[in-house]
Amino acid sequence: MKNKKIFEILIGSNNKGKVREIRDLLPANIKIYTTQHFKLSSPKETGSTFLQNSLIKARYFSKKSGKICIADDSGLEIDILNKAPGIYSARWAGKKNNFDLAIKKVFRKLDVTDINWRKKKIKARFVCAITIYGPGFKTKQTYGKIEGKISNKKKGKNGFGYDPIFIPNGKKFTFGQMKSKIKFKIDHRSKAFKNIKKFF
Ligand code: IMP
Repeated sequence: MKNKKIFEILIGSNNKGKVREIRDLLPANIKIYTTQHFKLSSPKETGSTFLQNSLIKARYFSKKSGKICIADDSGLEIDILNKAPGIYSARWAGKKNNFDLAIKKVFRKLDVTDINWRKKKIKARFVCAITIYGPGFKTKQTYGKIEGKISNKKKGKNGFGYDPIFIPNGKKFTFGQMKSKIKFKIDHRSKAFKNIKKFF
């Protein structure tokens, strides 16, 4: 089956920051539904990879709504923490989505792993897996990443999540210090999206 163009889609996320970012990647003429239209809560992310979790979300929201759904699963991998927080990136912020807490946890884990980490390049990357799943559509999955390092302190108020501690390679500023327009040109989500653009 060759996939036809998609004219309406459900964005499978209850995270407002993420819905905004996915909405901005989609062409303006597409009809967009959100989980609020269908009053849907989120499924348990029981997968062990970003790709598995994005499929769990897209399939769940699609089955509940009857619509084709786009869902992503993303996170921050820090090499000296064995790629943590990884698929647990959202969960490190707790039920209240407190990223001050999540960032403190990153710094605490780095302190325990290497007390001199602030003087070193702490390699990290943002990763994004996207799945499109739904009736009459052959499931598509794609993946994007951006390499960088962890800032030795929180910087900037833009963006969301771990943006204030991530400095992409070749830049002097954290994602939190960058205008969203500049972040979106280079980030993991827009890279993943490039491979599925043709369906819209
Ligand atoms: P999930 O994909 O909903 O499980 O959550 C991914 C989590 O990874 C988010 O809650 C953020 O903490 C983090 N994350 C993913 N992408 C970004 C980003 O672009 N900036 C900052 N944090 C991100």
